[in-house]
Amino acid sequence: MNNIYDYSLSELKDYFRENNEKEFKALQVYEWLYKKRVHTFGEMTNIKKEMIEKLNHDFTLEHLRVVAKEVDKDVCKFLFELSDGNKIEAVLMRHDYGNSLCVSTQVGCNMSCSFCESGRLKKVRNLGSYEMVLQILQVEEELGIRISHVVLMGIGEPFDNYDNVIKFIDIINEPKGIDIGARHITVSTSGLVNKILEFMNNKKQVNLAISLHAPNNVIRSKIMPINKAYPIEELIKAVKKYIEVTNRRVTFEYIMLDNVNDTKECALELSKLLKGINCYVNIIPYNETSHIKYKKSSYEKIMQFYDTLKKNNINVTIRKEFGSKVRAACGQLRSNYEEGK
Ligand code: SAH
Repeated sequence: MNNIYDYSLSELKDYFRENNEKEFKALQVYEWLYKKRVHTFGEMTNIKKEMIEKLNHDFTLEHLRVVAKEVDKDVCKFLFELSDGNKIEAVLMRHDYGNSLCVSTQVGCNMSCSFCESGRLKKVRNLGSYEMVLQILQVEEELGIRISHVVLMGIGEPFDNYDNVIKFIDIINEPKGIDIGARHITVSTSGLVNKILEFMNNKKQVNLAISLHAPNNVIRSKIMPINKAYPIEELIKAVKKYIEVTNRRVTFEYIMLDNVNDTKECALELSKLLKGINCYVNIIPYNETSHIKYKKSSYEKIMQFYDTLKKNNINVTIRKEFGSKVRAACGQLRSNYEEGK
């Protein structure tokens, strides 16, 4: 049966029209779901009884099941079970500018980045849009908060689940629904060039982040196999085109892995690569995980990298370390749970 949270407002309007009902009924249902947050159709008091029966017949409102929760002062991590038993994670980060939720887009991931925990489980399936929407609704309900920012940086490669991700963005961006502003939504990709070019034509002002993690093909191919399909030159070319068409600034994410990609030479090479591009680099202190051999770069190395980029006129920030205490790096909670830790 279809989950109602999989429907954009326009799809729900189509449904009502097809059933010879007024379109504005769709709007009323949407408000019950997203403004008043009811869990049953029976609570929708301005919808007539026959229609409620029909909705009950055609849709489920099933939510995700919370199977584990790790709470820290400014970060809270959730492990959810989906209706088929698969498990995914979402991480809530409290910033001074608001609450940001890191959402998963797939069960497992096929990108096989060597430093990432998520890829240890190959992709089992894509998440439906509703399973992404429900991560937001459920975290808000559990914590009694409102989420202001969404980053698609949980388990999975968003652009390997393109259509569901785009619809998810439409649903959460809907002013009559959850109403998260497009500028508060960030999609992160390991660099699927064809999809970056497709995304370029999306009219919404959504932010794009690229997991670059290396200044050249030799290093990048070693840690990110996707680089063999879409090497750095092609990736940078696509990003330049994206910026030209959208006029939007792009973020490059750069994990600092000790003795892999964190030398001064790497910083100089990166500065050259990104020169003149309307972008900024987000340096990410690596979140170590027990199954993977990489170590995080020292504070001194991170600062040296930062300074070198700065001196070369590259906009750069260092990401606040949130996740290490609650094992919040991509895929870590699921992984630990499976092992019964
Ligand atoms: N597949 C997408 C989105 C999910 S990963 C992508 O690759 O962008 C989100 C970000 O977390 C990526 O930049 C990823 O490289 C990074 N990441 C993965 N494991 C990490 C770890 N252990 N510590 C810090 N960042 C990590």
